Amino acid sequence: MRQVAEGVCFIKGQDEFIPDSHVYVLGKASSHDLTLVDAGLMGKGRYKILSIQEGGIPLADIKRVIMTHTHLDHIGCLPEVLRELPEAEVWIHRNEGEPLENGDDRTVYGMEMFRTMCQSQYGLSDGAFRMAVDRKLEGGETLSLGQTTWEVVHIPGHSVGSIGLYNREERILIPGDVVYADHAIGRYDLHGASGPDLKRSLSALADLDVNILLPGHNRIVEKLPPGYIRQTAEQWAPYLG
Ligand SMILES: [Zn+2]
Ligand SMILES: [Zn+2]
Repeated sequence: MRQVAEGVCFIKGQDEFIPDSHVYVLGKASSHDLTLVDAGLMGKGRYKILSIQEGGIPLADIKRVIMTHTHLDHIGCLPEVLRELPEAEVWIHRNEGEPLENGDDRTVYGMEMFRTMCQSQYGLSDGAFRMAVDRKLEGGETLSLGQTTWEVVHIPGHSVGSIGLYNREERILIPGDVVYADHAIGRYDLHGASGPDLKRSLSALADLDVNILLPGHNRIVEKLPPGYIRQTAEQWAPYLG
């Protein structure tokens, strides 16, 4: 775990043959009110929890987990993580939180072929990710998280309930899998995905002034060139319909 800004720590995903999402820890340590963003792939819960502990954070200080979206590589180890954090709440955008509560995990797997493969690979049963969602986000909220402030931006396209978290003061964006370093964007062929929605979401993110980009995978960027997201959005626009 390493600090990328005051009140923002980074735990790098440990990719296997399926990627493991990064985890971010938000909030100033002195607040004892910390938030995890995303969890990761099945089997990576212990690694994430150990990283938090090795970073000197008491597990009792972690009050909630906010999911950028609920693909398997982000939510897979959420049940493992929550076993270590029984008091922590789970916050997810309504568009993915309600289906999960109803046991609809089509977004988790993204496509039926992948479901079959993962269920046999990881011994998962149908409904393995049915869970109570403590707060359903809509987009437009301003969240006070351990003396740091984050705006919730609903950015569908990669998935129907993808959100970004934006810290305007420090110009930090956590976009989930919507936009990455190196002009890459999230795939838009899975359940609930939409090229035109992704195009609109990228345009919305392009309007934000971002200096630190903290995506769900691959490298993070600590001095993002001005106009980076707009250039990326424009480059991809012809493919997104
Ligand atoms: Zn994803
Ligand atoms: Zn991902």
